[in-house]
Amino acid sequence: MAESVHFGARTVPLTEKQELVNDVFHSVARRYDVMNDLMSLGLHRAWKDALVTALDPPKRAPFSVLDIAGGTGDVALRVVAAGGPQTRVVVCDINAEMVAVGRERVEKRTRRTRSLGERAGKATGAITFMEGNAEALPFADRSFDAATVAFGIRNVPRIEQALAEVFRVVRIGGKFLCLEFSAVDVPGLDRLYDLYSFNVIPALGRVVAGDADSYRYLVESIRRFPRPEAFAAMMRSAGFARVSHKLMTGGIVALHCGWRL
Ligand code: SAM
Repeated sequence: MAESVHFGARTVPLTEKQELVNDVFHSVARRYDVMNDLMSLGLHRAWKDALVTALDPPKRAPFSVLDIAGGTGDVALRVVAAGGPQTRVVVCDINAEMVAVGRERVEKRTRRTRSLGERAGKATGAITFMEGNAEALPFADRSFDAATVAFGIRNVPRIEQALAEVFRVVRIGGKFLCLEFSAVDVPGLDRLYDLYSFNVIPALGRVVAGDADSYRYLVESIRRFPRPEAFAAMMRSAGFARVSHKLMTGGIVALHCGWRL
């Protein structure tokens, strides 16, 4: 029998999930960033900043980061802003539309910093976008100092395969940071969170992005993602050492960290 996986609340053949996920992000790409601000009430910024703080890009040394499922470049822009002049980020995402929005965004940011007369804008040349599948990363072994993925891994059909690929492309001594929605563990907040997620977010999706179903998928997919301990175990199985995680905002989000040693 064909292998199956979750696509939100549905169970679909493994071979069909990626196409369904691609339809979601193709549909929402142009409104993706504004929707993130609205549905998280701006909190996604703090969560991503926490990832960048944990990444701790050096101020002087060269530093190369692969941002997997990096979408519109939100994490990449933050990494470059926090790092030194030799920080470089490659954003690799399977979705051409998300990548196109990201490229436009970085170009716009660069033009704006130039017009302000600032040093050619840190994003210039420091961020490269490319299309690629997390399950088969188009990079040589051990080619990055670090890898990140924010709110991307739960969309990948074969998560174990993607983790094996991250491990392969990070250099020995490099780290991997994964930010993902998790399970709320504060009594009371869990009910409120469910009410908000299942009612407000799809309604916002309908009004702002013209697509309630995609945002219903996003909410449902969060509920299907492994608990933090289970995901930490998956990272260890992929080869990562010293795996740790911290929960943020009552468990709404988990930040996992692991090292290739
Ligand atoms: N990391 C970005 C952020 O935090 O704003 C974007 C996250 S968005 C929720 C999920 C992203 O995962 C989408 O851009 C989607 O195209 C990408 N994605 C889904 N499956 C993928 C795969 N197999 N390989 C690479 N990217 C994938």
